[in-house]
Formats: sequence, C-alpha cells, structure tokens
Amino acid sequence: MAKLYFRYGAMNSGKSTALLQAAYNYEERGQRVLLAKPAIDTKGAGEVSSRLGMTRPVDFLIGPDADLRALFAEHRDRVRSAAADELLPEASTDVACLLIDEAQFLTREQVDDLLRIVVLDGVPVLAYGIRTDFRTHAFPGSARLMELAHSLEELKTICRCGRKALFNARLVGGRFVFDGDQVAIDELTPDRVTYESMCAECYLRESGGRLDG
Ligand SMILES: [Zn+2]
Repeated sequence: MAKLYFRYGAMNSGKSTALLQAAYNYEERGQRVLLAKPAIDTKGAGEVSSRLGMTRPVDFLIGPDADLRALFAEHRDRVRSAAADELLPEASTDVACLLIDEAQFLTREQVDDLLRIVVLDGVPVLAYGIRTDFRTHAFPGSARLMELAHSLEELKTICRCGRKALFNARLVGGRFVFDGDQVAIDELTPDRVTYESMCAECYLRESGGRLDG
C-alpha cells in the first residue's frame, strides 16, 4: 500500500541530504525514482543540492500552475517506455517512488494531486520541506501536507543555544527582520538574505515577542 510521507523540518535540517539518500536507497535495489521540485526555488534551479555538497538534477520542475498528476503521469510513461526499450528486469520497469524537494512551495491543489498519485496511481511519494516561513506561518504546501500525509516525520536541527530549532528567522544584511514577503527573491537581494534556524525562546527574544509578523 503506497503512502504519502511528509518529512519536514526547519532550514538546515538535512532535508535535501535525506532525499538524496532515499533516492540512492531505491536505486541500490535496482528501482527507479523520479525527483521533482517546485520551479519557484531560484537557487540551484533544476537540481537538488545538499549542504554536504552532493547535487543531482531533478527529473522535472513543477510550475506554480502545473497539473502535477498529469506531469507525473507524463514522466512515468517516459520511464516505462525507456525501460521497455532497454528490456530491463521487471523490478525497474516502473517508478518506485516520487521524491519532492522544497515541497513547501507546492500549492494546496498540487499536494492534493500528490495524494491522488499515491492512492489512485499507486506510487509512494516522499515530500521534503520546511514547515513554517520566517514569520512562523505555515507554507501553503506544508499546511496541506500536514493535513493529508499518511506519515509525518520531523527532521531535527539545533538552535545556536542547543535546543531543537522550530523556526527560521530571516536576516537581511545580518540583521533580523520580521516583515516582508514569504519568499525572498534571491536575485534582488544577492547575499543579503540569510536564515537562521532557531528555537522558540531565541526567536521570541529576537522578535521582541512578535509571532505574527
Ligand atoms: Zn535557541
């Protein structure tokens, strides 16, 4: 029985590393996977990049208006026909898993499609993403994944004080900011926007008690 998995965490909790490891585990057993990510992510567009230095191209990008189930079906067909041409063994003639990086940037409708891919098309989906934005609000894709996923797994990272990090504080030019757009456009602010994963105590100290932006 296929399932929809959401593996979430603060920034720098090793989500992309975990995704690449999961892909490797499938492929080591001779199975095929598809990697995809939303097109909104401007850094390293077209690849999954881990902080440890590993990178891998994605099989497809998901535009904000994309019909995700149709897009997946198209790429699944490509894998199946390529496998038929190569006369590969039975186990590797279909997609064993769909892996999604930066899943927080999916729309709610696209997450609905992930559940359809799992239940109606019978392919497990592993989605990796950040739970909340720099103002502590859930990203739309993450909120919907929290509602729909069969399995939720938290990937943990540590705040500078040693507690578990919950939030992602935004810094612009090295100073904490608590107002602004949910997604900072990297091209407009090169090297100026950074994030720090923080526990609730440190976040509230820096924000002066603000949580709602
Ligand atoms: Zn802390």
